Amino acid sequence: MTADSTLGVATSEVIREASRRRTFAVISHPDAGKSTLTEALALHARAISSAGAVHGKANRQGVVSDWMEMEQARGISITSAALQFSYGDAVINLVDTPGHADFSEDTYRVLSAVDSAVMLLDAAKGLEPQTLKLFDVCRYRGIPVITFINKWDRPGRDALELCEELQNRIGLQPMPLTWPVGDAGHFRGVLDREDGNFVRFQRTAGGATAAPEIRFTPEQAEQEEGEDWVRAYEESELLAESGGEFDLEKYHNATATPVLFGAAVTNFGVRHLLDLLTKLAPQPEPRLDAEEKPRPLEAPFSAFVFKVQTGMDAAHRDQVAFARVCSGTFERGMVVTNATTNKPFATKYAQQVFGQQRSTVDTAYPGDVVGLINASALRVGDTLYDGKPTVKFPGLPSFAPSHFTVAWPKDLSRVKHFRKGIEQLGAEGVVQLLRSDRRGDGVPVLAAVGPMQFEVAAHRLAVEFKSAARLEPLPYSTVRRLVDPAQRSIVDGGRQSEVLIRDDGAVLALFANDMAMRVMMRMNEGLLLEPLVAEGSSM
Ligand code: GDP
Repeated sequence: MTADSTLGVATSEVIREASRRRTFAVISHPDAGKSTLTEALALHARAISSAGAVHGKANRQGVVSDWMEMEQARGISITSAALQFSYGDAVINLVDTPGHADFSEDTYRVLSAVDSAVMLLDAAKGLEPQTLKLFDVCRYRGIPVITFINKWDRPGRDALELCEELQNRIGLQPMPLTWPVGDAGHFRGVLDREDGNFVRFQRTAGGATAAPEIRFTPEQAEQEEGEDWVRAYEESELLAESGGEFDLEKYHNATATPVLFGAAVTNFGVRHLLDLLTKLAPQPEPRLDAEEKPRPLEAPFSAFVFKVQTGMDAAHRDQVAFARVCSGTFERGMVVTNATTNKPFATKYAQQVFGQQRSTVDTAYPGDVVGLINASALRVGDTLYDGKPTVKFPGLPSFAPSHFTVAWPKDLSRVKHFRKGIEQLGAEGVVQLLRSDRRGDGVPVLAAVGPMQFEVAAHRLAVEFKSAARLEPLPYSTVRRLVDPAQRSIVDGGRQSEVLIRDDGAVLALFANDMAMRVMMRMNEGLLLEPLVAEGSSM
């Protein structure tokens, strides 16, 4: 996209700033090392930006406590939104995926706000269930993925076998950029496949410092490492023959994945990852609007809300909306339009969250995540824009829920607060709300992709709305869209089925299981049911 000279300096500034942005998320199974890697990335960037100063362990903790302090000061959860830091000339936005052991819709939606992902694997475990689910979302959205094989410092699986697993299980061609020298657990370092040199792995005390790198030529490496080097070299040659050479286009069109080996806990491999991200990961592109027209990066400000959260500060229950900037320049204080309601939204309290500095940053560019405070009027999926032309981005998908429950207030004197809480949780997308005349408007059915969402909802009702819930799970697990609402009575007439309306207007038919649904379809030939087409629906 070239700058339009008629729009002048500001335009080229947007283009320039956008091209520096790398907005990504880490997808992984719990315990693979996501928090450790996040800290290592931030530490590395910081260590470098402060002119090569060596930081001690205290500083590593400093990275974390800085976030916590900001979290408290701003009354929002830093770790659940985005962390921004600069590395060289690049500005990196690491958008966090919530770290539940369970799947929630939150996690999936976050992936609509990123341009690429890092798939973090534990060397001893390879692809794990949650990695697979998140990867499926990336695949659906065509998000390019870098694979980082972590914990190579301790016993794990064979490197070739792990690469084969990528190819065979998820059909993603591995393109290793580094190759481990020494088995997992006897990690000597990596062969840098770009220049053929050996980079030695060094343990640092508690991973407190950016890992020092000592490079050796292949000849030196053979002398130093003997058999381990020879084997790594031969395996690397083998990879070259089997089509594992790096191909930027294949990475960008998400048919192949660059692979790196390392150990986040000692920072080894983290620099490789940062370099790869800044040099080759995709930068923000013009986003397609609801009519599939690209919104040029240099068009006036536009953004979409991908996450809404209630403030953590008990005194201020402000709702914070996190929006990803898609075009133009965001400036704090600007009044923008919410495309869903056509109402103005004042960003007076907006903050660009989580700059390295504590002070609020007032300007944001495409790829950045902005935290909008006092955002009770905003919903997940809303588009915000400034000026002309108007724009509306496609809404974020709702996922096919497979868990359903009714929630009752335990304390009847708190019914009002209870209902308010339920509405709030629905608006934030913590759970989906389904209703029917039969059940009564005041008793919605809570629906979720993973049961953990109910726990979060119950906890928040009790703590924030001081109104504990009693959950009564419903015996449904299969859901379809009822194409013709006139057929409602058929489904409602079944013993193991029911029709409910979701708050986005979708008419859903719930069944005890697939079998119950098939039986009903056989008995009612004209019954029209459709799968809920949304990413995640196949999961
Ligand atoms: P998360 O659940 O994915 O955020 O994982 P954490 O970052 O909390 O890490 C889980 C555990 O793995 C912690 O005990 C870490 O210290 C450990 N860990 C993370 N990275 C490495 C690594 O590279 N090597 C080793 N040996 N342990 C690691």
